[in-house]
Amino acid sequence: MKIFKSAFLSAAALIFALCTISCGREVPKATDSSSASIADTTAESTEAASDVSTEAETTAEPTTTTAAKLSGVTLSYTEAEICVGQTLTYPMVYDSIEAEWSSSDESIATVDSVGNITGKSEGKCIISVADKNVPDKGAEVYVTVKKDTGIKEINGITYINGIMIANKSYSLPESYNPGGLTPETDAAFKELVAGAANDGISIYLSSGFRSYDLQSQIYNNYVNAYGQATADTFSARPGFSEHQTGMAIDVNIVDDNFIGTPEAIWIENHCSEYGFILRYPFGKQDVTGYKYEPWHIRYIGKEAAEAFIKEADRRDDVNLTLEEYLDIDSHY
Ligand SMILES: [Zn+2]
Repeated sequence: MKIFKSAFLSAAALIFALCTISCGREVPKATDSSSASIADTTAESTEAASDVSTEAETTAEPTTTTAAKLSGVTLSYTEAEICVGQTLTYPMVYDSIEAEWSSSDESIATVDSVGNITGKSEGKCIISVADKNVPDKGAEVYVTVKKDTGIKEINGITYINGIMIANKSYSLPESYNPGGLTPETDAAFKELVAGAANDGISIYLSSGFRSYDLQSQIYNNYVNAYGQATADTFSARPGFSEHQTGMAIDVNIVDDNFIGTPEAIWIENHCSEYGFILRYPFGKQDVTGYKYEPWHIRYIGKEAAEAFIKEADRRDDVNLTLEEYLDIDSHY
């Protein structure tokens, strides 16, 4: 759904704005009486405190953590607001220091060795960068972590309710390359194959992970053979293929001859038990952007697949699509 996407984008823009508002400003120094008082204030008294000095207006929201002890280093931003699970690219350090990053509370936000900040749970904490060689030299970023909005974009990849999305509306960056099926997908597929065998059904992998480059070659070959309009109904443009996620698998016969076979029926009825869903169900070409593909399954995890099937039951729609379930579009 476009509204969701644009809501997400404006949220992202807001986060960016928050980060750039304090661009180049020095962080409040704990030794200043003004910032010390900020650290001691509660949320209710922030306004009153901001009357004390102009610097107070630009400082981060009060935090329950220990007041800052570091100073003398300027960062590109000193406040940040992120969602749980989101990673914010490091602030630029405008001073030459041997940087050492740390978090005042790793249960709320963690920071890696270059300063990228990741939200872990709702709350506030301080991410610090200290100069290894000079005591008390450094700077802080006041981080507020908000609860997961359900939609997030990390390194150009869109996740909705934790599910990585690759369709005609949400593409993957060329650089995203898990190098094969994800370990979870691989393990779940092995279980599925064994489960099918127990039922006397032979399921095998025909096509799993496809890199951006490989998809590029495949798609271009189809365009040359059938023209783009036709190619788009069954082959994804590079970056838009679910096979690039490493969580999509084409089983057995990858053409219409698979339709209605005992194997296809077994997949349709049982793949969710192993954490997979049928991605391009019958009669939903307008929604998914692809014709019926009973051979194409997508791993979303057992819990998510179970919730998906429950929702399909509730809607009385055995052909529920991921797009309908997550309320998103799929078109170029
Ligand atoms: Zn496929």
